[in-house]
Amino acid sequence: ADLSALITSGLRDVPDFPKEGVVFKDITPLLADPASLRAVVEGIAGRYAQDSVDVVLGLEARGFILAAPVALELGAGFVPVRKAGKLPRETHRASYDLEYGSETVEMHADAVSPGSRVLIVDDVLATGGTARAAVELVDKAGGTVVGFSVLVELGFLQGRRKLTDVEPHALAVL
Ligand code: IMP
Repeated sequence: ADLSALITSGLRDVPDFPKEGVVFKDITPLLADPASLRAVVEGIAGRYAQDSVDVVLGLEARGFILAAPVALELGAGFVPVRKAGKLPRETHRASYDLEYGSETVEMHADAVSPGSRVLIVDDVLATGGTARAAVELVDKAGGTVVGFSVLVELGFLQGRRKLTDVEPHALAVL
């Protein structure tokens, strides 16, 4: 089966999680299947193999799971982007609006050197707020975003509209 079909069949819809009216896409069955896990990591890494990626940014928390093996495949380093208050040293910060309130993410200020080529990896692209904040962090550090890749894009939320300077890539679009 092709990769998109493999992903679609490995996802589980969870109605009303984390709150009523939201259908959460649970990726854990996909991660638990050895062939699927390998296929998605190779699927992301393969697309950027010719892009001289220096570091792969993983977005807390499910982005970490994919970003580290993708970094290994590409011979790149791994850098975590975390929710505010988790990283111990000097950071760059970026905020974005949620339905109620806002969210702030951080990256160590010295984690991406000026001119570094950065691939950003997460599990799901939804409204695009998280992705956009991650791009902002790379910009603040003086790095170059060479790509943004996710397992699943929720197309109906039109998150890619928030990403103007980078063309997001999704292994599957729902
Ligand atoms: P966004 O900022 O609205 O694009 O939301 C993306 C972030 O929320 C990602 O870091 C995802 O991990 C998480 N997320 C949003 N919806 C889902 C979902 O249905 N399943 C898993 N993660 C999700």
